[in-house]
Amino acid sequence: MLKLKLTKKLKTMPTMVAEAEKPIIRPEVDKPVIRLREVKRVYKVGVERIHALDGIDLDIRQNEYVAVMGPSGSGKSTLMNVLGCLDRCTSGTYELNGRNTTRLSSGGLAHVRNTQIGFVFQSFELLPRLNALKNVELPLIYAGGATWLSRRTQAKEKLVRVGLSERIKHRPNQLSGGEKQRVAIARALSNNPSILLADEPTGNLDSKTSEGVLKLFDQLHREGQTIIIVTHEEIVARHTERILHMRDGRIISDEKTGANRVKPGSQEAENE
Ligand code: ADP
Ligand code: MG
Repeated sequence: MLKLKLTKKLKTMPTMVAEAEKPIIRPEVDKPVIRLREVKRVYKVGVERIHALDGIDLDIRQNEYVAVMGPSGSGKSTLMNVLGCLDRCTSGTYELNGRNTTRLSSGGLAHVRNTQIGFVFQSFELLPRLNALKNVELPLIYAGGATWLSRRTQAKEKLVRVGLSERIKHRPNQLSGGEKQRVAIARALSNNPSILLADEPTGNLDSKTSEGVLKLFDQLHREGQTIIIVTHEEIVARHTERILHMRDGRIISDEKTGANRVKPGSQEAENE
């Protein structure tokens, strides 16, 4: 948290003017939030063994904004499920914030998922009978500990953050696709997760609505959120700072894009 504040402070310091056109550089002292070593996930189907992840080494640092691309079946969703502690790797290690998750019990893994991970899905996965506010409150109920009032306050604050303050009492069937995805993003943010994972978040949205949702991800990134997005669309990946390409369960390229630097005329540039 302290590191996060420090990073934000550094970004807005006047001495950074000459640096404005360079990509954001983080101090080397930043430890990776995510550290995968030799991660494999093998599915057994009858006598066949499918190597969905086939030896992944990956470090992702705080506030990185990463796209995962690759053809269908290359292992993108499997990777996200492992990162999100929805699934376990067959072998290898996965450290999240310096803690090895590989040996956690199912309860331990669920706790990590409920407190440190925010997940956004292509098909929103909202509960149809609950209004937006209650959908966003749900992870706070699962995580336990918060009072009714604090849950309400936090859930409202997240809906305001995604631009849906006018829609808190609406049920999913009273919302547009873009609004549903915003509710899902607010829900993913409800526990202030250390990583936000989104698997094809714009896959069910038209291009104009997608752009609005991507701008929201950009804003969250600027506020310090670590974000990983799976997409097969170049236009989506262009929003991020780093693109991983997968094929046959492996990462075949890992490139920095230089996107999302401070742009002239933006609020940040004006403050400098
Ligand atoms: P992507 O998201 O890139 O399309 P996936 O991670 O969904 O790829 O799948 C990677 C490989 O693992 C594919 O060959 C897929 O068929 C296989 N696979 C995914 N989930 C399962 C499962 N639950 N059981 C068996 N095979 C699976
Ligand atoms: Mg997939």
